[in-house]
Amino acid sequence: MSGIFNFCAGPAMLPAPVMQKAQAELVNWQAHGCSVMELSHRSKSFMAVAEHAEASLRSLMNIPDNYKVLFMHGGGRGQFSAVPFNLLPVGGKADYVVTGSWSKAAAKEANNFGEINVIEPVSDVDGKKTVTDSSKWPLSSDSAYVHYCPNETVDGIEIFDVPETHGVPIVADMSSTILSRHIDVSKFGLIYAGAQKNIGPSGLTIVIVREDLLGNARKETPSVFNYEYAAVNGSMYNTPPTFAWYLAGLVFDWLSELGGVATISEINQTKAQLLYNCIDNNSFYKNNISSANRSLMNVPFWLADESLNDAFLTEAENAGLVALKGHRSVGGMRASIYNAMPLAGVQALVNFMNAFAERHKG
Ligand code: PMP
Repeated sequence: MSGIFNFCAGPAMLPAPVMQKAQAELVNWQAHGCSVMELSHRSKSFMAVAEHAEASLRSLMNIPDNYKVLFMHGGGRGQFSAVPFNLLPVGGKADYVVTGSWSKAAAKEANNFGEINVIEPVSDVDGKKTVTDSSKWPLSSDSAYVHYCPNETVDGIEIFDVPETHGVPIVADMSSTILSRHIDVSKFGLIYAGAQKNIGPSGLTIVIVREDLLGNARKETPSVFNYEYAAVNGSMYNTPPTFAWYLAGLVFDWLSELGGVATISEINQTKAQLLYNCIDNNSFYKNNISSANRSLMNVPFWLADESLNDAFLTEAENAGLVALKGHRSVGGMRASIYNAMPLAGVQALVNFMNAFAERHKG
């Protein structure tokens, strides 16, 4: 917003026009004399905001009518519990595909609920992390669902194909990939995403769930995590995160005006290509993911000489390129280039990386 490019993995930068609109109407929303965040969630005015946001998301993602869209609390981790509460029967079994730290955390949480078959399809091929084709995953035939994370935010591993599970519902943690590229929602039983990357501020979690999967929650499911209650109550079983919901609506409008998912997907391809080309063409930098599984949204990279890490981060920050430090579990650098990151931001990063390499060449 203020002359910097913010590469944070989340909460992440939001589109500048959205922030400007939110600022302009912050204290007096649509001549109400108060902020949208000060309105009752059940007021006619807020209900209109809520319905508009849902309709926009349905249209952007082409969500079929037999899916509910829920606006919930609790983030991605909340869903790590909500999913088994709602979909894993007592004594039941689920498959969890672990391709990085977030799917690993989801599997660990699910382990509290029943038998979890962990599938680990990432292997090292010529020094690059590669996900084995999903047709070779040893899925169980009797699992309640298959859970996977199409984009691992920390590791920078993305799976572009939707696995074939022969009728077993697929549950996907799309926290860091939702709205970045085309997704055929009809192939999924349930999609969830924390809002704080491609949707809006943290505090809101989107759940898209096929209707036939509702109504089987365990008895002990906390009511705020019960999908059926959320669906029946229009996501207002308890007070929803109204301001985050409103802002999500603005982000959806921004994306629609830009041309929708098809347009942003092309821009995202261009951005990612530019950055990976810079990394691949300069021995100063490296990325450890095979080209088929490189994330379009989160690009981890390492300096060949890691003693320059601090200098890289300081000089980048001085150049207005912030939050490039890699996740503490993997080190190095990470550039998160979500929908709101303009091509100019990635170009500025690439220019900086090339200049930094020149300056620090031995
Ligand atoms: N899943 C993925 C893919 C994530 O990137 C994150 C957060 N970065 C989470 C889950 C956890 O989300 P939250 O912090 O909202 O619980």
